[in-house]
Amino acid sequence: MFQFNYVKAKSLSDAQALIAANPDAKLLSGGMTLIPTLKQRLAQPSHLVDIGGLSELRGIEVKDGQLVIGAATRHYEVASSAVVKKALPALASLAYLIGDPQVRNRGTLGGSIANNDPAADYPAAVLALDATIVTNKREIAAGNFFQGMFATALEEGEIVVRVRFNIPPRAAYEKFAHPASGYAMAGVFVADGAAGLRVAVTGAASGVFRWSEAEQALTKKLSPEVLEGLPLDLTNMNEDIHATREYRANLARVMTKRALVKMLAGK
Ligand SMILES: Cc1cc2nc3c(=O)[nH]c(=O)nc-3n(C[C@H](O)[C@H](O)[C@H](O)COP(=O)(O)OP(=O)(O)OC[C@H]3O[C@@H](n4cnc5c(N)ncnc54)[C@H](O)[C@@H]3O)c2cc1C
Repeated sequence: MFQFNYVKAKSLSDAQALIAANPDAKLLSGGMTLIPTLKQRLAQPSHLVDIGGLSELRGIEVKDGQLVIGAATRHYEVASSAVVKKALPALASLAYLIGDPQVRNRGTLGGSIANNDPAADYPAAVLALDATIVTNKREIAAGNFFQGMFATALEEGEIVVRVRFNIPPRAAYEKFAHPASGYAMAGVFVADGAAGLRVAVTGAASGVFRWSEAEQALTKKLSPEVLEGLPLDLTNMNEDIHATREYRANLARVMTKRALVKMLAGK
């Protein structure tokens, strides 16, 4: 690890000021991605600005018909929240599937979406639910937020403050987890809400994406068999030592079917 200065931000405005004054500073939330990156000397920030404890970035509530979750809310808090379980149980079960107890007790929603790992779980829910990402500067629609592998619409020093999720009458998430890390080899969030039927896939490609052919087919007939033989573009599918493109595409199809069955069963 390279040397750095650790600063615990006292407030959101304090964090903003610290980041503005130190161009090579980095925000630290749960540290579950950033600390391993530092340990491997893949980053050399001058300062770590710790925002993980800021009350302005924490909390879970239903407000104006949306589920609002603070960026520094930990995965465990989302998984176990009575508010989330009642309003959007699919999101609680997604959070419960992230990593292991240690990761869930440290990792945060804001850190996960800011990092935008192509195999992370939250991006699938954020995209399928047309969520709004609220930062210290503006509001960003989910469809504009994720911009490919580890890339987002966030500008330098921009801080995710909270995420507003739409609450559909029914939704479900299913993932095929990598047995070692828990990350999604393919994870699919299906939502049936005011905006229509949404299918968002994570883990399979270089970034989260909506499977539009599945959305169209399922809008005509909401039944798993319509997914058979539907085209799924292999161009951006991940291929590595764990799985070929074709295998990942097949996993995405199977996870979509499972999520759909789960949603239709109201589980
Ligand atoms: C062993 C292991 C298994 C895992 N398994 C899974 C899994 O199954 N599914 C899954 O989805 N994830 C998994 N993760 C990742 C985990 O969910 C992390 O919590 C997440 O990727 C990063 O969140 P964090 O709060 O720890 O962020 P940090 O590590 O603190 O930060 C990550 C990045 O985001 C930036 N950042 C943090 N907060 C903000 C903010 N509010 N605004 C702007 N930028 C911000 C930081 O500057 C940094 O660049 C795993 C991690 C580990 C170590």
